[in-house]
Amino acid sequence: MINEYSPSKNFRFCPKCGSPGFTPDTEKSLKCESCGFRYFINMSASVAAIIRNETNEVLFTIRKHNPAAGMLDLPGGFVDLGETAEEAIVREIHEELNLIISKMEFAGTFTNKYIYGDIEYQTLDLVFDCIVDSFLELKVADDVSGFVFRHPATVSNDEIGLDSIKKIVSRIL
Ligand SMILES: [Zn+2]
Repeated sequence: MINEYSPSKNFRFCPKCGSPGFTPDTEKSLKCESCGFRYFINMSASVAAIIRNETNEVLFTIRKHNPAAGMLDLPGGFVDLGETAEEAIVREIHEELNLIISKMEFAGTFTNKYIYGDIEYQTLDLVFDCIVDSFLELKVADDVSGFVFRHPATVSNDEIGLDSIKKIVSRIL
């Protein structure tokens, strides 16, 4: 389906030869009328961590930047090129919270549409249940402006910024 933010509208020119004739080919690809280059629209991989404290509250971060600045999120972020999801979650939790993951268990995947700079990116969020050694060194940085420990049942959808995180909180927390 082609909506206002359809990924097929992300490109007006062929990224290979610069021709303006770069148009939807199938619902998940674009093709250049000049050079024949075909671009497949894929989801970006991202990771999110569920980290609980000793009273079973979940560690939510507060988003520093748009989309959804100021709203609750789960710690995590995009998987870098050449990185595994496990490496990405370890890196993100260290960058955002200065915490060291000692154990993780895969918990499921959720889809998300992420609008950034008027461009829609579709992501596949890989969720991990994580245990950290200690919260003593907890310190926010990177694209996080704060954190809060909350019992998931007390968190309403209106407080959460991203659709995939709403699904995670309502379905698996
Ligand atoms: Zn081209």
